[in-house]
Amino acid sequence: MSVSVRAPYAWTCEECGRRCEAPVWRVVDSRERPDVLSSRTGPDGFGAGLCQVACPGCGTRAYVEAPVLVLRAGAVVPTLFATSVAQLHEDATATVAELVEQARLAGAFAAGRFGGQVVRLPRRLLPFALSCDVERDLADPEAACRELAEHGAPTVTNYRYFLRGDIGRGGPVRGGRERSGRV
Ligand SMILES: [Zn+2]
Repeated sequence: MSVSVRAPYAWTCEECGRRCEAPVWRVVDSRERPDVLSSRTGPDGFGAGLCQVACPGCGTRAYVEAPVLVLRAGAVVPTLFATSVAQLHEDATATVAELVEQARLAGAFAAGRFGGQVVRLPRRLLPFALSCDVERDLADPEAACRELAEHGAPTVTNYRYFLRGDIGRGGPVRGGRERSGRV
């Protein structure tokens, strides 16, 4: 049984108004799908269904705002839960538990390698969390944030809180509501 699964995702295209639906990742295990979690071209290069989806009518891309659980064996931060900023502000605990249980039933934790806490973050920050060197950035958070400056202030702010581990404890997560383009 595969741990990594996709689920249908529905959204309305901001450009042409079309009602769209496409499969997006709900659980991704790096041992099964390292391809999904890697991007050769940095934060913008992840494939469809992890961070963004494209309108089949006009091609306009939209950010995925549904919850996803990412399991990365051997990573500094092995377990990531990413979802909309709105859900992070409410209470995502039940959804985290649901996805962890779904992964557990599929055998994700049979080897016992994913202890510890599930780090929560906005789904729009996920491509940055996956493509940055978190270990290096933890050693020098300000240098890391300067490197991200070109991606906009909300991304820098969110990444800083991600490094501090404050996101799951209700730290200020801002700027998740831009319509398109840069985070
Ligand atoms: Zn469209």
